[in-house]
This record gives sequence, C-alpha cells and structure tokens, in this order.
Amino acid sequence: MKVLVVGGGGREHALCWAIAASPLLSKLWCAPGNAGIAEVAECVAIDSLDIPALVAFATTHAVDLVVVGGEPPLVAGLADACAAAGIKCFGPSQAAARLEGSKTFTREVADAAGAPGARWQRFTDPAAAKAYVRDQGAPIVVKADGLAAGKGVVVAATVEEAEAAIADMMESRIHGDSGATVLIEECLIGQEVSFFALCDGTTALPLGAAQDHKRVGDGDTGPNTGGMGAYSPPPVFDQAMQDATMSRIVRPVLAEMARRGTPFRGVLFAGLMITADGPRLIEFNVRFGDPECQALMVRLRSDLLPALLAACDGELAQFDLRWETQHSLVVVMAAQGYPGSYAKGSEIRGLERAAQVPGVQVFHAGTSRRDDGALVATGGRVLGITATGATLKEAQAAAYAAVDAIDWPGGFCRRDIGWRAL
Ligand code: AMP
Repeated sequence: MKVLVVGGGGREHALCWAIAASPLLSKLWCAPGNAGIAEVAECVAIDSLDIPALVAFATTHAVDLVVVGGEPPLVAGLADACAAAGIKCFGPSQAAARLEGSKTFTREVADAAGAPGARWQRFTDPAAAKAYVRDQGAPIVVKADGLAAGKGVVVAATVEEAEAAIADMMESRIHGDSGATVLIEECLIGQEVSFFALCDGTTALPLGAAQDHKRVGDGDTGPNTGGMGAYSPPPVFDQAMQDATMSRIVRPVLAEMARRGTPFRGVLFAGLMITADGPRLIEFNVRFGDPECQALMVRLRSDLLPALLAACDGELAQFDLRWETQHSLVVVMAAQGYPGSYAKGSEIRGLERAAQVPGVQVFHAGTSRRDDGALVATGGRVLGITATGATLKEAQAAAYAAVDAIDWPGGFCRRDIGWRAL
C-alpha cells in the first residue's frame, strides 16, 4: 500500500513510525514532514492546507490511503476532496469535522445524544452574556465558538474575569470572528483525561486514554501551550471509566452523527473531565492529540495500517486492537521562549545517544536539516522524547535519561511530566 500522511509535527512522526512498521506498506510519503519523519518516509514539500496540491500528489502517485494528522485540513475539507477524487482518506468529512470546528455544534450533538457534559448557553450579544455570568456566578467558563488555536477558552475564577473575557472575545475580537459567538459553560471539577476512539461511521473502537500537561512550567504553572508532555494510561481512567465513556458518550454521539447524515470516520478525541459522577464531556477533537498520539502509538501492539483502512471502509466491527500493558510517557522539548516568541535555527546534538536509552523513541516536531546535515530547531515544540516502561515511574526515568543525553542549549522541557499520576 502507498500511504500519504499529512502534517509535520510529533503526532505525524508517531503515525509515520507506526505505519512504516506495517508489512502492508510499500511506500510512505509525508507532507510536509520534518527531519525525523524523513528517516521513515519521503517528505514532500506541500503545505498541509494546500488541498488541491495534496489531492493532485495523491492522484499522480496512486496513493491508496491519505492519513490526516491535524484538524485544519479536515475542517477545510481535505477528506471530501479526497473522496471526490476517489482516494481513501483517514479523517472525517468537513461536515463531521464540525465537532471540532464549532463548539455550539458539539454541544447540540452531545445534548441530542444524551452525552453528559457541562450546562451551557450560547450568546451573540455581549451584554446578555455578561448578565448571564453575573446570574450564574463563578467559577464559570467562557469559550469562543470557533477555532482559536487552543486559546479561546477562559476558565474564570471570578465574575469580573469572566466579564473581561467576554469583552475581549466579543467586543475587542481578540480571536477575530471566532469570538463573535461565545458559549458560557458550567465549570466542571475533576481530573482531565484525553480519550480516543477509532470510528468508522457506525462502530467505535477504544484507542485508549492519556493525560497531558498543557502549562509550560513545572507544577502546571505559566501560560498554556500545545502540550508539554503526556502519559498513558492515566490511573484515574480504569476499565469501568472507559466502558462508561464508550457507552454514554462515544457510541451515542457516533449514532447521532450518523442519524444527521454526517457519519464520523476517523479518530474521535473526547476531552473528558473525570468528575464525582463519572466522565463528562468537555469537548471533541476530530484527530489524535499531540503529544498524546506519541504516548499511544508506542503502546499499540497491533498493526496500525489495517485498522486505519478498516475505519475508512466501515469494517471496524470485525476488528480488534491489542495494546502493550506497559506505561508510556512523553516529554516535549521546546525552544527557549515558547509559547511566546522563540529563535529558530539552534543546533540539536546527541539524539543518537538519547535513542539508545532502552525503551526510548524520539519523535520530531519542529526540526529540519541544515545544508551541512546538522539537526536544527524550526518550531516551538521541537522534540517528543517518548519512553515505555513496566511502570509509569520507569517510563519517566527512561524519558528523562534520554532528555539528559540531548545537547541543545536552545531548548528546555518540564522536569515533572507525570507528576499527577506519580
Ligand atoms: P477546550 O478548548 O474546550 O478543551 O478547553 C480548554 C481547557 O479549558 C480544557 O482543557 C479545560 O481545562 C478547560 N475547560 C473547558 N471547558 C471546561 C468546563 N466546562 N469546566 C472546566 N474546565 C473547562
């Protein structure tokens, strides 16, 4: 099989790494890829949002399956464009990707499916939103309805903070038109878990769960990031919790999406709050998390490629996935300054030594090769040092042993990934 993976982050490196191990694979490309992906796939210089160029490449090269890593191409309709060209694509249609693109849509679908979530209201008038917040009291959550690069959510500890967030989003439009509509939600209390299900439109198969660390600093302090680390499985998410998530949230939502004529195929990522009453839905994403994907892929024992195909072909009901009982943990190394401004081009050495630590896999995110062959950082999040171990503690020790083998003065990482579980 010939496969094209779309994206160039750590998540896509982990997907390429898993697909490259499949005996079914004959050729793997990645657009645009990165320096680590180039070790397992041929990278092609096509932007992941250039849908016509991606479809043209897939057609010319007789690609059997396109695997989409991130949400922007899905929300922009890459899966639909592939379908129109007769190419199989792993990832939801534009209509089904609204589960990530529109928070209102997600809430409506979840409510119709009876999936437990937060009490919510939608506003297009800032004065009405502020009045509702004053009436409900704090803590309370203010969300821009559209995509806001993960920055459109304010968990307000006070009514004043919530009113300021409403003014920023609706009046000052700090997220552009994404903030024209806001959702005000009940603040759920508990531990957050990322749960993933492989979906073929009607059947869903659990892909497991992970917990991530969004804040940049140790002890979960400082500004939010795309994710500074993750581990799997989370101790708070046992089999009973997974069963409850599948039966109360994932399967009913899948059925509701099919009922609406927009069946969901791809990875359904449920952001959950594990509350005293069980799992409650915070949000959906329509793809793997990054770095959660890295933590899951190193635990997957089954061949990923036939599973992705079965999801495209509506054949997951006959499918089963096997997982290692081992624990995994990812430490993200980022460029100094991230998530604020950071320099590009600093050299990274010592990856060979890091990769020799038993159980360690180094996934690249923002890297490229200089003309002289040196590895340089080209993004904010740059490396995902991923380790497995018999216990989470062992996985953590291996990941940090590998981190310590890396010589990159321009980078940093958190030193406490996994603390909540340990
Ligand atoms: P979202 O973009 O919807 O995932 O929200 C970003 C983060 O805000 C989540 O990961 C949670 O930490 C927090 N959050 C969002 N909605 C709620 C809620 N209803 N209750 C508590 N925390 C929330």
